[in-house]
This record gives sequence, C-alpha cells and structure tokens, in this order.
Amino acid sequence: MTKKQALPVQKNEEYIVTIEDLTHEGHGVGKVDGYPLFIPLALPGEKVKTKVVKTTKNFGFGRLMENLEPSEDRVEPPCPVYYKCGGCQLQHLSYEGQLKAKQKQVEDVLERIGKLKNVTVHPTLGMEDPWRYRNKSQVPVGIENGRVIAGFYAQRSHDIIDVNECIIQEQVSDQVMNLVKKEAEKFGITPYDEARHKGILRHVVIRYGRTSGEVMVVLVTRTKNLPHADELVEVLRDQIEGLTSVVHNINDQKTNVILGNKNRTLWGRDVIYDSIGDVRFAISARSFYQINPIQTEVLYKKALEYAQLNGDESVIDAYCGIGTISLFLAQKAKHVFGVEIVEQAIEDAKANAELNGFTNTSFKAGLAEEVIPAWHDEGNKADVIVVDPPRKGCDQALLDTILAMQPKRVVYVSCNPATLARDLRILEDGGYETKEVQPVDMFPQTSHVECVAQLVLKV
Ligand code: SAH
Repeated sequence: MTKKQALPVQKNEEYIVTIEDLTHEGHGVGKVDGYPLFIPLALPGEKVKTKVVKTTKNFGFGRLMENLEPSEDRVEPPCPVYYKCGGCQLQHLSYEGQLKAKQKQVEDVLERIGKLKNVTVHPTLGMEDPWRYRNKSQVPVGIENGRVIAGFYAQRSHDIIDVNECIIQEQVSDQVMNLVKKEAEKFGITPYDEARHKGILRHVVIRYGRTSGEVMVVLVTRTKNLPHADELVEVLRDQIEGLTSVVHNINDQKTNVILGNKNRTLWGRDVIYDSIGDVRFAISARSFYQINPIQTEVLYKKALEYAQLNGDESVIDAYCGIGTISLFLAQKAKHVFGVEIVEQAIEDAKANAELNGFTNTSFKAGLAEEVIPAWHDEGNKADVIVVDPPRKGCDQALLDTILAMQPKRVVYVSCNPATLARDLRILEDGGYETKEVQPVDMFPQTSHVECVAQLVLKV
C-alpha cells in the first residue's frame, strides 16, 4: 500500500497567499508550495489571508478571510445581494479589469490547452454600459414566512433570494417581477414548493425586444389552471408599458427545466419581435435567443467579418439555433445551410428567414456531426464553415469532416475557451491556421467568456 502523500495545506488552517490568476468561475488562485487554492472573491495581485475549507489531491478551496493588499481593480459591487446571489461572479472587479481578465483567460487557455503560441487575442470588446443588458429573466417564485417571494437562486442552491431589482436585467423585468409577486399574494396564488412538488406558480419569465420595446410575460405553473388569470392579465396590461404577449406555460414535471411543453397565450400575440442589425426575429416563449442583444450584434458582425464573404460563397452554419448567425451571413453569401439539433429552433429559423425575405437559406434539423458528413458524402462543398457549439465544443466527427471538406475559412464562435482551444489544436494539426481570436463580452459582471476565432486553410 502506498502511503497517502501529505498535502502542503490542511483543512481549517489559515495561510497567506498572493493571487496569481482568476479561474473561469471567477475565483482567485493562490498557491501554497505549488498547491493551488481557489478562493472566491479574491483578485489577481492581491495578498490575502485564506482559510482552507476543502482539499482534494491536486487543489483546494479557501475562504477569503482578510484582504491584506487589495487590488487597484477592486470595486464595491453595486448590487446589494451580490455576495448571496449566484447570478454574477465579477461585480467586485472593475469593468476594465473584467475585460482584461477575460482576454488573459483566453490567451492562457489557448497556450495551455491548444498549444497555440503566437495567436493574436484581441482586447475583449466590452459594453459602453455593462448593466441592464439581459433581455430575458427567469424568476423563480417561492414562499418565505407566509409571504410570496421572487428573485434568484443563491449560489449552488435552489434557495430563492427575494429581490426587487436585478441590475443586469432590463428595468421592465423588475417591474413585472414585483407586480406578479404582489398580485400573487393578493389573489392567494400559491407559489410552487419544489421539495413537495405542490403549489401553483413556479416561474415568471420576462422577455424583451430591445429594438421593438415589446414585452412578453410567461407565467409558469405546475397546475393546468392559473387562477385569476384574467385579473393578472388586466394588471399587467394596465401597468407594463410595451406589453405584447402574456403566455401561460404548464410544467407539471419534477425538473430543473423551467418551461413545460404546453403553452397557451392568455392575451396578445404568441411572439415578440426584435432585430439584430438589419435582421428581424420572432421570439416565442420557448425560442432560444441570445440574451445580450447589443453584444450579439458585435459578435455576429465579427463573425461576418471573419467569414470574408463576397456573395459567391456556400456557407455552412453548424449549431445554428434559430438561424441568427445564418441570416446575418445570408446578407453576404450565395447560400447558407444551417444545421441544428432542436427541431423547433429549425422551424423558427425557417420562419425568420421568410420574415426577412431571404431565399438563399436552407435549414436542417439533426446532429451537426451527422448531417454535415452526409452532405460531404453527397459531394456538397462549402467555402466557409461557421460553428457555434455548446460548451462541450465540436464533435470529433464534425472536425474530421471540416478537415475533409477543406473550406477556405472556418469561423469558430465559442462560449467555452477550453473546448475552443482543444478544437483549434485539432484544426491546426489538420491544416488550418488560427489567424486571430476576438473575445466579446456577452455577459458583463459574470465570468462567462465568449470568443470568435478565424481560421484559414494553409496553402
Ligand atoms: N448559433 C446560435 C445558437 C448557438 S447555441 C445563436 O447564435 O443563436 C448552440 C446550439 O447548438 C443550440 O441551439 C443547441 O441546441 C445546438 N446543438 C447542441 N448540440 C448539437 C449538435 N450535436 N448538433 C447540432 N446542434 C446542436
């Protein structure tokens, strides 16, 4: 039997460390004899006293006990529930600092995981006003001491923190959230009790079309009926400017998924509209749609620039969702072929293409790693391939097909720098060169990093 190696730290002991880095979750990293401790709320450059709360073989977690040398980039978080809520991770870092940290994270991960040495990673494109950007809010409703509460889940839990305001969401979301809370209490509409799977009202979902000013309110219940629906609609109509649609959604399952399968429009339209650049989108209660419309335009413009289209190209948009990037590209390409696994999203994509009068797009529901190889086998060619996969990155079969199809350019949109780096390595080994990477801050105040990369086929 091998003896267990002693760790350089012990649980419940305190240490003084200098923070060297920030993890993708926004935790500071400090080392004791080379052993990394992840310390929430500590910032790079700071010297802190930390108490070890958990250890594993290769790393541990510490609590920030005392900040001995605070960073110049540290700011007072403006949100009063910041330290309790799980929504934001970086409000204690200046916005400038957040943008720099995100750029550095991308650089580091490209080098560490992707073994990419001299790739240009541009400074993160940030927002002029990095607040009130979220166009969609999903607010859980609960009960506390007999009162209806609504707000957000605490970090890593389903305990609801009651809030009246969230400063990263649109103002109208606050208004709706507070109104529904008040009216639910008045009419005795019982909030859902997750532990016992009892009660009625589970979530209020608010969606806002920034360019149209249109508001959709979705009331999610466990029960088939929503008591006092008419009265609720009346108050919302009376008090919410821009109200366009009120939808009742039924979710009777024991699940973390917010929306159920059944929708019933209580008042107004089934959809609201929004535009990104010159392209218009219809958004229904269940449609996937980017949550920061201002930065989405920045991101898509970059993707379009990297695609370098002149009107003659066949373009594939893999993981196309409701066709947002596809339609952006279709403005400049000969034809765009979108692929996406969710059938409803493909229906939305087709409808959105029609809404904008595009005749040079086709959309197919299926796995990107199956549909695109099949297209290749049929002899179809692509001049440019755009991918925008979920966090786990592209499937190997898709990467192999890209290498076999040899498009002149690949544009990789990514919400996870680690899998981006892994996939860029594979494409590099197969004959592509990563020209540049542009981080775009889609989620200010949070630790999420979005990037777009341009790759070209080496000749
Ligand atoms: N490009 C879109 C959506 C990106 S999100 C936009 O910018 O709005 C990633 C999308 O990939 C999701 O819509 C998800 O449903 C889809 N997806 C996940 N795995 C997939 C797969 N294996 N093949 C095709 N689509 C997939």
